[in-house]
Amino acid sequence: MEAYCVKCKTKRPMRNAERVVLKNGRHAMKGTCPVCGTKMTRFVKKGS
Ligand SMILES: [Zn+2]
Repeated sequence: MEAYCVKCKTKRPMRNAERVVLKNGRHAMKGTCPVCGTKMTRFVKKGS
């Protein structure tokens, strides 16, 4: 699972990625950047 890192300003493979459901009902993957450790969030479609 790749996500955009705002600190590296590029896509990175997300570390410790886990699926979460936000308060608004949207699903997302949360993890950390393997290079700088910044938290990353990537929205995903329901059921995917
Ligand atoms: Zn980064």
